[in-house]
Amino acid sequence: MKEESNLEAARLRYAGVATLLRRPLVNDPSGVDIALVGVPYDGATENRPGTRHGPREIRNMSSFTRSIHHLTRVNPYELCNIADLGDVNFSNPFDLQRCFADITDFYCKICAAGAVPLSVGGDHSISFPILRAVAAERPVGMVHIDAHTDMSDHEFGHKFTHGTPFRRAIEEGLLDPKRTIQIGVRGAQNSEESWHASEDAGIRVIYMEEFTSLGIEATLDEARRVVGQGPTYVSFDIDSLDPVFAPGTGTPEIGGLTTIQAQALIRGLAGLNLIGGDVVEVSPPFDPTGNTALVGATMLYEIACILADAVAREKSSRKNV
Ligand code: MN
Ligand code: MN
Repeated sequence: MKEESNLEAARLRYAGVATLLRRPLVNDPSGVDIALVGVPYDGATENRPGTRHGPREIRNMSSFTRSIHHLTRVNPYELCNIADLGDVNFSNPFDLQRCFADITDFYCKICAAGAVPLSVGGDHSISFPILRAVAAERPVGMVHIDAHTDMSDHEFGHKFTHGTPFRRAIEEGLLDPKRTIQIGVRGAQNSEESWHASEDAGIRVIYMEEFTSLGIEATLDEARRVVGQGPTYVSFDIDSLDPVFAPGTGTPEIGGLTTIQAQALIRGLAGLNLIGGDVVEVSPPFDPTGNTALVGATMLYEIACILADAVAREKSSRKNV
């Protein structure tokens, strides 16, 4: 493994075929600990589209990522076998239910092989069909970082949009609302329904203003208290960040997280029982400098670091029994 990371250092980062976090591209999930997956789907977007191009651009911007974390000194690629499994292929991109079924099938294969998925969207609707695979056997908790609760009952009569994934996931028993925390919520809505839905379900919602007054450490204490040691999914919507840092997204909301706050929030989740995650809502057509995709790739790396630590701990505890 050590030699491999030295080889890594010798590889030109800007050359070759781009993959997620510069991991090898493989078709078969067997032997893979963490499966990076692109989900190029934005058919459930209410406002500006374009996130179907997210995975390709995050692969491109992955050229800027390296291996050893500057603060924790974790090298996720030494802890785990992490590979790019490519993109979910859609049999009919115009049929939302077929797309969701294609996503769930893809992730069921990954889970059956014993790999943990870390995904790149796509719009936020993709988290629901992913959870159908990841949480098939038991409900999971979630740390959800987003400007929006994504808990609407419907948008324009449609039950399956990027504003509704977690409402559906709770209804199907995939997500345990009592073990779910939403951080960074803000921005005016035309109805209070999506906020009330979270609170009524028992989700702990930390609006942006509460986050600002609590600070990072107290917010992390609250996140750890809420999710506990049960299986926990991490969902990171790029619009949790202030559009100053991440303008290339469909539903920007000012007054958001800084990149350094978002990184600290993710790092602080180390030690939880993490079973998967995603980075969603990067929309390259609205990202003229490419910086939003760079932020997406870097947040993907941050999540990979804590996920690799969790997966490696799980593996060694299994070995010791
Ligand atoms: Mn979202
Ligand atoms: Mn959002």
